[in-house]
Amino acid sequence: MINFTEPYYSYNQDKKNLEKAITKVLKDGSYILGKNVKLFEKNFSRYLNIKYSVAVANGTDAIHLGLKALNIGKGDEVIVPSHTAIGTVYAVEMVGAKVVFADIEKNFFTIDPESIKKKITKKTKAIICVHLYGQSCDLNEIIKISEKNKINLIEDCSQAHGAFYNNKKLGNFGILSCFSLYPTKNLGAFGDAGIISTNNKKIANKLELLRQYGWNNKRESQLIGINSRMDEIQAAVLNVKIKKLNINNNKRKKVAATYNKHLNTYNVQIPEIRNNNDHVFYLYVIRCKQRNKLKQFLKKNGVNTGIHYLKPVHKEKVYLNKKIILQETEKASKEILSLPCYPELKLKDQKKVIYLINSFFK
Ligand SMILES: *Cc1c(COP(=O)(O)O)cnc(C)c1O
Repeated sequence: MINFTEPYYSYNQDKKNLEKAITKVLKDGSYILGKNVKLFEKNFSRYLNIKYSVAVANGTDAIHLGLKALNIGKGDEVIVPSHTAIGTVYAVEMVGAKVVFADIEKNFFTIDPESIKKKITKKTKAIICVHLYGQSCDLNEIIKISEKNKINLIEDCSQAHGAFYNNKKLGNFGILSCFSLYPTKNLGAFGDAGIISTNNKKIANKLELLRQYGWNNKRESQLIGINSRMDEIQAAVLNVKIKKLNINNNKRKKVAATYNKHLNTYNVQIPEIRNNNDHVFYLYVIRCKQRNKLKQFLKKNGVNTGIHYLKPVHKEKVYLNKKIILQETEKASKEILSLPCYPELKLKDQKKVIYLINSFFK
């Protein structure tokens, strides 16, 4: 079976270094929030060219704690896309703020600035923009909206590690930015992990308290925090993997270029790339009317594709009674299909996927 993602291969590609790093942690005997975590925070900040990074337990917590650090909670509203990983949305629920869904742009699947404008009220305290599938939102417009209305901009970069917009890495545009480091992401651990980046020292200091019971370095609790710590083993793995992030992003781009070149675009719509933006292809998502039949056909022939996302978050049971309508989001969810796309994908396998898709429409 050819799968749409294969995190195992990232281990297989760099076995020796990864095993060495993990064994060293086991022998050193410090397992949580130790020197490997500190080093990863430093490496990550340097990679993004940003001042501070705070490692946490997963991407959902990164957003949850980011909102908490900005004092967003009950009585506040936060604008989010519905076409995203559900964690983006539930992070808002976790702080008790009201989720306000915005629609997406037809061409890029990212949150639509026009829809954001319509959803702003006096209670809007933040916009979470998700750089979906590996490329940036319409940041120029979204930054204008956030500045004009004095609303915090939070970037969810969980699918766009290392991607650029206007020659700056994503994660540099909001008051803070959140990253999931889940195993399948462009930069992924071998378990759960996440990180928050910011240029604001106060926010960084608060995040360090929030992720561990509000503790200062004397273990006196300064505020109500949670347990969202990163493991040393995951940090050690990430310190090895971050060195290969650019190389692996380039390999993903090459996979995408091969699809772009050979897929018959009469039948399927290939991903559109935004101007002044560099797409790192966390997912290669095509669009076609016969999505379900194509998916079945591929599965029957040994190719496992994905759908990101099958159900827009506003269509989940917990939001159904609100009767929200988001036209572009709902249309996209019926037509999107994620093809196999990862750095180690073999050309032979990719050619099979391309051949199958083109022959399905013959
Ligand atoms: C993966 C992902 C998350 C959730 O991250 P977890 O580490 O699974 O909690 C949030 N937002 C986006 C856009 C994601 O892709």
